[in-house]
Amino acid sequence: MKAIQITKTGGPEVLTYTDVPEPVPNADQVLVEVTVAGINYIDTYYREGIYHYELPFIPGQEGCGRVIEDPKGEIAEGTVVAWTGTAGSYAEIAAVPRNRLVAVPEGISHDVAASMLLQGMTAHYLIHGVRDTQEGDSILLTAGAGGVGLLATQMARTAGATVYSVVSSDEKEKLAYEAGATEVFRYSDNLAEIVRRRNGGRGVDVVYDGVGKETFGESLEAVRPRGLVCLFGAASGPVDPIDPQILNTHGSIFLTRPSLGAYTATDDEFRMRAQAVTRAIEEGSLNFRVGAHYALADARKAHEDLQSRKTTGSIVLRIQD
Ligand code: NDP
Repeated sequence: MKAIQITKTGGPEVLTYTDVPEPVPNADQVLVEVTVAGINYIDTYYREGIYHYELPFIPGQEGCGRVIEDPKGEIAEGTVVAWTGTAGSYAEIAAVPRNRLVAVPEGISHDVAASMLLQGMTAHYLIHGVRDTQEGDSILLTAGAGGVGLLATQMARTAGATVYSVVSSDEKEKLAYEAGATEVFRYSDNLAEIVRRRNGGRGVDVVYDGVGKETFGESLEAVRPRGLVCLFGAASGPVDPIDPQILNTHGSIFLTRPSLGAYTATDDEFRMRAQAVTRAIEEGSLNFRVGAHYALADARKAHEDLQSRKTTGSIVLRIQD
């Protein structure tokens, strides 16, 4: 079968379109013909070797496709499923964990299904897990027009929060407003000051920072005393080590660095978040934007676009019809 394989870590050029043997599912897996694979920022961390898989590996943490074979005979051949929580999705065929997949309702397209779980469940645990967002909360969110950003904005607004979104271009600003952001800002050295001015000088209840290195300092400045900084990503690079005393000097603030894995650790929690996201998309209360699609052979270009901040919403690899 055709797949993208990584034999050494590095830049987008290490994503190699090649022939590899088909995977053989174990009893905990289901064999799937992949129609669309979701592309996530985390794929770039594995590609670069910031996170580790044993080499060689096929990247891609999520996708959508049709079941070819279930060794346990529980899922019918042809069932359309979406999954996350395993590598190997940038391929024509994948063996995916049965406890990390959901049936895709007819009304949801394969493009959306392929990218709804990882980013959707992340937005869900950020807004409803790390802290249960309440009516009247104020939130600052970086990368507000990205895959996670647009979804987290909608979920936070639905919960009644004020959302200050940070983006880098006019196009992204428009998308952030369309997702419901209360106000949209550009990155700057005095971002925290600008946000505080809008917020009665108080600072926001929570900062959700997926950008990391370049924004973390402003995130600490923007949060109110005893507020929460949730550092959930490193799109601009990992944050330098900090002295815990810094939490004191910013007003006894809290800092967390969560992962989707920890917030979907049990099958029940995975199902609860996956169903919440799937249902919201099906009902139309969560608008899911797939900003671009690429052929499997063009995975390199997709990673280049993602890392040069050219993409909006989610992006996918279309592998077969
Ligand atoms: P996005 O679609 O949001 O793409 C990343 C965005 O980061 C860019 O579009 C860009 O938006 C922004 N950005 C800011 N600075 C830089 C920079 N120097 N280089 C590149 N991009 C930059 O990606 P995802 O939705 O997939 O992920 C968003 C973040 O969430 C990532 O950091 C990812 O690792 C994290 N994440 C964390 C999870 C967790 O459980 N902890 C799970 C899923 C994602 P702009 O141009 O507007 O700044």
